Amino acid sequence: MRDHRKLGRELNLFGSDPLIGAGLPYWLPDGAVVRHCLEEYIRDAERRAGYRHVYSPVLGKRALYEISGHWSHYRDDMFPPMDLGGEQVVLRPSLCPHHAVIYRSRERSYRELPLRIAELGGMYRAEPSGVLGGLSRVRAIQLNDAHIFCTVAQVADEARAALELIGRAYAALGISPSRYRLSLPGKGGKYVDDPQLWRRASAVLNEVLDQAGLAYDAVEGEAAFYGPKIDVQVADSAGRESTLSTVQVDFYQPERFDLRYVGPDGGRHRPVMVHRSVIGSVDRAIAQLIEQHGGAFPAWLAPTQVLVLPVSDAELPQAIGVERRCAELGLRAELAGPERGSLGARIRAGRLVPYQLVIGAREAAGGQVSVRLRDGRRLEALPQAEALARTAALVDARSPSLWNGS
Ligand SMILES: [Zn+2]
Repeated sequence: MRDHRKLGRELNLFGSDPLIGAGLPYWLPDGAVVRHCLEEYIRDAERRAGYRHVYSPVLGKRALYEISGHWSHYRDDMFPPMDLGGEQVVLRPSLCPHHAVIYRSRERSYRELPLRIAELGGMYRAEPSGVLGGLSRVRAIQLNDAHIFCTVAQVADEARAALELIGRAYAALGISPSRYRLSLPGKGGKYVDDPQLWRRASAVLNEVLDQAGLAYDAVEGEAAFYGPKIDVQVADSAGRESTLSTVQVDFYQPERFDLRYVGPDGGRHRPVMVHRSVIGSVDRAIAQLIEQHGGAFPAWLAPTQVLVLPVSDAELPQAIGVERRCAELGLRAELAGPERGSLGARIRAGRLVPYQLVIGAREAAGGQVSVRLRDGRRLEALPQAEALARTAALVDARSPSLWNGS
């Protein structure tokens, strides 16, 4: 594994500037492509799993976080409030309160449950400057978040489905978890004081982990202030562990926001909130992807997917045609002509690009390309249309393999 900060600079993925501030990286075009593809993947996976997406503002009145409990339990990690026309607004430390308010924006029936509300949204954490670095610890976080509002009887199934969604995403992204952790409350006033609430919620998560057959460590002092959680841990290049994905069971915030649904009996009942994140913060997920793949992203995430390599200037017209055809097929292609050096030098410079299409005199005459894969494999020359259709199909399917099931 390599340090994502170093690779991020070398590959022009992201940067930072003291004038913008520590912990506030910006995304360069190639990094923005990776981020966009990742976000679209997540939205698509969530849509298929029955989530509905919303947008909510990154600011809220201080009163909102007083109700959610953030103000009393989490204030030290929040940015200071801003005075605005006689009231105080804060940059949000989480999306939960906004989604609770969206839930209660109208009356809900048991028929709507489980109601799965998802958002890729900004949140802010006043991290001390000493711990900031690259994309893994930032002050402006883009969170892949969702809240499932459901009945008590539905909680275990929803938590299990969320873990499965996380498993599928890790397979597509080529990320391996370092371990699963059941995060429980510790000592001190950081946690909501309601022993029965903690017992109920922890029992559900225990059951889900056991039934999924996942080995895990129970760790005290790592829970959210309002409830226990399953954390999926990953390790960075230095072996430091951090949490990427979480599934949390929350009986607390539904009470604080007085959330209700009308049951089959016509009575009003309290839903449970399952908080879950598939890839956690987009920033940290991409730091992990950069390190895990050493910059050689799965083809569907790669900033440049196809490198078109005419051997000499004579094949330039064919190469331009291939590049144009790639764009029509939705493939991100780049033409690297002889002005960039010898063919060998251009192949080496493009070593992270999954598909390299070489066009020499013979290929140009026959309307073909010779395909070289990033892993060093060289395939026989193929008709251009066939090579491009095959590449586009693999990329569209977000295939983890570069060619032919391997
Ligand atoms: Zn939440």
